[in-house]
Amino acid sequence: MKRHIGKAAVIGSGVMGSGIAAHLANTGIPVLLIDRVPNELTEDEKQKGLTLSDDKVRNRLGTEALQKLVKQKPAPLTSTKNLAYLTVGNLLDHADSLNSADWIIEVVVENLEVKKEILALIDEKRKPGSIVSSNTSGISVNKMAEGRSADFKKHFLGTHFFNPARYLKLLEVIPIRETDPCILDFMKTFGEDVLGKGIVEAKDTPNFIANRIGTYGLLVTIKEMIAGQYSVGDIDSITGPLIGRPKSATFRTLDVVGLDTFSHVAKNVYEHATGEEKEIFTLPSFVRIMLENGWIGSKANQGFYKKEGNEILELDPVSMTYHARTKLDSPGIQAAKSLKGAENKMKALIFSDDKAGELLWKLIAPVLVYSAKLIGEISDDISAIDNAMKWGFGWQHGPFEIWDILGVEKITHKLQEEGAEVPAVVTTMLGKGHESFYLREHGKVFFYNQAEYRLLEQNKNQIHLAAIKRSNGVIQSNNGASLIDIGDDVALLEFHSKSNAIGMDIIQMIHASLEEVDTNYKGLVIGNQGKNFCVGANLALILMEAQDENFYEIEFVIRRFQDAMMKIKYSKKPVVAAPFAMTLGGGTEVCLPAGKICAASETYMGLVEVGVGLIPGGGGNKELYLHHIENLPEGVEFDYQKAANRVFETIAFAKISTSAQEAREYSFLRAGDLVISNQDHLIHHAKQQVISLFDQGYHPPVPVKIPVTGETGFGTMLLGAEALKLSGYISEYDMNIAKKLAYVIAGGNVPFGTKVSEEYLLDLEREAFLSLAGEAQSQQRMQHMLVKGKPLRN
Ligand code: NAD
Repeated sequence: MKRHIGKAAVIGSGVMGSGIAAHLANTGIPVLLIDRVPNELTEDEKQKGLTLSDDKVRNRLGTEALQKLVKQKPAPLTSTKNLAYLTVGNLLDHADSLNSADWIIEVVVENLEVKKEILALIDEKRKPGSIVSSNTSGISVNKMAEGRSADFKKHFLGTHFFNPARYLKLLEVIPIRETDPCILDFMKTFGEDVLGKGIVEAKDTPNFIANRIGTYGLLVTIKEMIAGQYSVGDIDSITGPLIGRPKSATFRTLDVVGLDTFSHVAKNVYEHATGEEKEIFTLPSFVRIMLENGWIGSKANQGFYKKEGNEILELDPVSMTYHARTKLDSPGIQAAKSLKGAENKMKALIFSDDKAGELLWKLIAPVLVYSAKLIGEISDDISAIDNAMKWGFGWQHGPFEIWDILGVEKITHKLQEEGAEVPAVVTTMLGKGHESFYLREHGKVFFYNQAEYRLLEQNKNQIHLAAIKRSNGVIQSNNGASLIDIGDDVALLEFHSKSNAIGMDIIQMIHASLEEVDTNYKGLVIGNQGKNFCVGANLALILMEAQDENFYEIEFVIRRFQDAMMKIKYSKKPVVAAPFAMTLGGGTEVCLPAGKICAASETYMGLVEVGVGLIPGGGGNKELYLHHIENLPEGVEFDYQKAANRVFETIAFAKISTSAQEAREYSFLRAGDLVISNQDHLIHHAKQQVISLFDQGYHPPVPVKIPVTGETGFGTMLLGAEALKLSGYISEYDMNIAKKLAYVIAGGNVPFGTKVSEEYLLDLEREAFLSLAGEAQSQQRMQHMLVKGKPLRN
């Protein structure tokens, strides 16, 4: 049987239920979102004369959840259009509809009895064969399934999403004793391929993997802070990016998670633990006071941090008052900061003879020991534990990778010197002469598992560019980019300059790549595995040349950039762009002319040049206009004007899509372009597209003359801008840029409907770009962006 999730039902429309429903809707799955029937009317309902039997009241919880989805930040929906996939209902009137769902997810309060009641109802209503899962954070899934039918148990498991469900990569799946292995396999594949998650299989133990270790680490940290009389700011100075953890470090993370949720999770382990573990999972008294006071974090506008006016204050856990933020500094921290890479920084600091180093050791070492002690109990597989911490808590390295980075032997000696316990798994491993949890040999990775090393299976949908480069896959390279052979006669152009900004080196490499591909490959993927696809052109370069009045040089660079974009468009071999995350300015321009775009669903595209006093200079104005008019019938004046207006608005307001779906709504993506849920699979899919296009006998588009809106179009576009200027919404200088932009999009001083060549439009674009680059106010905007990292409105 080929299983398919055609429809889903989510029970519980709270924080997680609504977030999970939104994420399913983002992938195009219709979801029935149901909740309890309220037993009281609100004041508003009373005033409207509604009663408890009205549908509006009975479905109120679900309806309110949808309203929140639209307002929430970061947005749970990739487009508000996805609301169309969500239907709300209630447990009394719509339980029968559960029989139409292929997957039913229980997401009600973390309470075994309530969950069991809901599962009993699901068992009664579901169709045989449908999958049922619980989003519990840590209640035993085996216990939850007690009393259920055999078919239910065969199709039941835990699916633990992390908050927010759209953005956090981790999905822990927890089978019960009776879960059919085929169902478990299906959910792992579905979770990874369709929902785009990183899947970790966990055993049915309290809080599973990530929350068990994560909560332990947080509690150790809080307790060490109190014992060593450190401040909240001290701790956050060394538990963030310095050691490869998120910017939110320890206490900002806790504020975002919410102390209420955190204490719930801690309590769950506490109730099942014994001895030393029980002690750690006991909440310190000041945390209990915070809970009593309702200082639970961001939700309450107050937690370990609190915003007062423009200032962010931190809590002093002794006096329980808020004061100015503090920071820990020491020679050890400075020395660590001077090194490259989180692993080197962490290693240098943790072994330094320095106050901050000693503190870091006390925070990290217990977590490493605890994780090692839990092997076998929470998972047999150390790579699953590492992945859970990386995907669930945003750590750059999991605990076993950290053992290896710091040196297993070195840690062991230090622990022994301090009289601390060393987990048996570590002493056994060292006893056998094995010095690390992972081994890399002949391009393969092995992990330590039950006294021997096992091959770490590579996911067939993942291409690791770093590994290919290590094994001689580089065809050509310069400082900004490399051309890599990714196998099956497909080449990939990887940007690797700072922030992947486009400078002359990348432009040269685009030209060189297309020449190489033209003769020796089936086609080209433009993609990379950095933090962002590309943040735009190298602004520092443009500003420097502009300030030196070196306009000949700027003109040369822009012309070469435009030529490169035309080469992408008219390449004989298919070029597939694979954008993800920030894909701004020149980054978007590189994608627009590609034969196909294969975008990760989290792709933030935009032609944002106006923010730095410029307009797109790599053909972006023309290509976006072409995307808009691609399917228009000839001669429909209104439609061409509408297209020009939309292009103008998109560029003049520097609109950035908040997802690939929205990028499609802005026409950065065309109908035939693909959106890939799992960013880790992006290069693989882009490569498959190249092969498929080539095998089908790819031909580049034929150059055509483009109908433009000319003088009439220019006037119409400016009408809107004038109105905005009059109402004070845009500045005089914005208006100046708007005029140049409108002129370029309209195709200059020609009658409406004139057909012009691409080269003509590129000339107009280059001219406008150059004249703006020479203006003092544009240079101020560029300077401001380079120094402050945000646009200046002058
Ligand atoms: P929430 O309080 O936001 O929502 C709980 C939902 O349960 C609400 O829709 C509520 O109406 C419903 N509910 C309450 N009592 C009920 C009853 N007797 N019968 C039926 N429905 C009832 O909680 P949440 O944060 O969304 O958590 C839901 C589940 O997800 C819990 O199991 C929680 O442990 C888990 N979880 C939460 C997070 C998180 O960060 N919030 C993360 C992962 C997992």
